[in-house]
Amino acid sequence: MQIVLLGPPGAGKGTVATVLAGRTGIRHISTGDLFRAAVKQRSPLGCRVAALLQSGTLVPDSLTIAVVREHLRTMPRESAFILDGFPRTVPQAEALADLADIRAAVELIVPEPEVVRRLSGRRTCSACGATFNVASMPANAARFCSPVQREDDDPTAVRRRLHAYRAQTTPVVEYYRAAGLLRRIDGTATPPAVADRLYAAVSG
Ligand code: AMP
Repeated sequence: MQIVLLGPPGAGKGTVATVLAGRTGIRHISTGDLFRAAVKQRSPLGCRVAALLQSGTLVPDSLTIAVVREHLRTMPRESAFILDGFPRTVPQAEALADLADIRAAVELIVPEPEVVRRLSGRRTCSACGATFNVASMPANAARFCSPVQREDDDPTAVRRRLHAYRAQTTPVVEYYRAAGLLRRIDGTATPPAVADRLYAAVSG
């Protein structure tokens, strides 16, 4: 099972992919997480992409594709995985077709006002990486975690990321529709419920 998860920033791709990976053992590969880890480590890649991530601008295709190619090279070609945040452009989708055997691309449908609400309330623990929303944060989270706002969840970066999604990633949705691989699911339920829908969509 090699699948792609599509949907705007704030649709819950990372959360739902984490639930699915926990249940099935398939690998969750997030290009955003790979880039953020590189920034944290101050590696050469991190230095190249830090300002782009902070402003909510897409990393150039050549660099992003090279990162994914290297990552996939570390695992057997037939490994099961769910890609979250890649591909975001048609050239990335075309490159991926040479690197993997994508069986389904699942689009999480979440209305834009809801994704803006989710992103503005999103907090990530700077120590363990757990994510919360201020509207539903467990009362004891602040005792165990150090929730901080992602730099690219500020309103200007959010607007830029949503614009990038509409301009550059909507054509990717069409790319997979044309290939007969697109599945669309409602992403507005709880993460376990959306993960159920995702599992049903890719196993059908
Ligand atoms: P995410 O965590 O998926 O929202 O990604 C955070 C940021 O990482 C994005 O706003 C981009 O700057 C960068 N990024 C992640 N995935 C990609 C990609 N496939 N292509 C270009 N930039 C990406």
